[in-house]
Amino acid sequence: MIFRASDHPFYWSLRRRRLWENCRRAYFLHYYASGGGFSPDESPEVREFHRCRALLSVSAYRNRLLGKALRDRFYRRFEEEDDEAPAGMESPGLSSHLLRRFRREFYAMLRGEPERDHKLPMLAEVLQPGFPVEEFRVTFERELRDCARKLEKELLPELERFPFSARRRIASPLPVQLNELAAYAVPLLAVAVSGELWIFENGSGEMETALLHKFYALNELSIPPERVRSFRIDFADGVLEPFGSKLNISDAWKQIRRDVDAMLALIHSDGTVVLEEFPGDRRRCGECVFRNCCPPEL
Ligand code: SF4
Repeated sequence: MIFRASDHPFYWSLRRRRLWENCRRAYFLHYYASGGGFSPDESPEVREFHRCRALLSVSAYRNRLLGKALRDRFYRRFEEEDDEAPAGMESPGLSSHLLRRFRREFYAMLRGEPERDHKLPMLAEVLQPGFPVEEFRVTFERELRDCARKLEKELLPELERFPFSARRRIASPLPVQLNELAAYAVPLLAVAVSGELWIFENGSGEMETALLHKFYALNELSIPPERVRSFRIDFADGVLEPFGSKLNISDAWKQIRRDVDAMLALIHSDGTVVLEEFPGDRRRCGECVFRNCCPPEL
């Protein structure tokens, strides 16, 4: 299986690094073999790779739901912040917002709608034979309610102290140019505070993420790196943690360059990439979204 790498614009992201480090074959299937597979006009083989690539684990889906609900809530103009609104109006609860979205998406999964439209979320578990639909729904909804309760108790009061005028819309995923290299971060929220930009992500708080925040602020908003702060939102505990204060820009940049050099080294001089040069790591197959379409090793 051979593809032209130039058909798939190269960019760096933490997700790309993780796939690269976990299984080279998964990296190949994600970044080369499934390219363009969102289109119904693509070949059945590419469509199938793309369908697998779009599958979500339960934890990834939970974080996606929580992130969307938080963004909707944070950027909505709250009635209580509107001088014209009657006093005492409550903003709707996070939990009901989450559960409404989950049920709509879950029943679409059960009807098989994401098979046709890969933009719709699809849980890998739903495809397992004998998947316990009702048991899963009840357990997952309970987890969502617990997370929403923690976020409402711990995190939202902290976030909602920022007036609407301080909140800055930020794309997610967020394209960031690192000199000549394209990269992506996945922030959730941003606020302007006393001449600083604060950016919030739900991730592990890697230095490279803080670096991307600083480059974004410099490139797009002319805010110098020392006036950009990064925070990690922990959905499980509903807490906020600063990260990146010890960022060494040169070290983080070198780590990214090291990834990029290794990834680009597998592109042939004629611009092609070849599946056989991306070996699978069979220890990872149990959790892998490509496990039902992974081509066998030669
Ligand atoms: S199924 Fe296994 S070998 Fe194939 S891409 Fe996934 S982790 Fe790699």
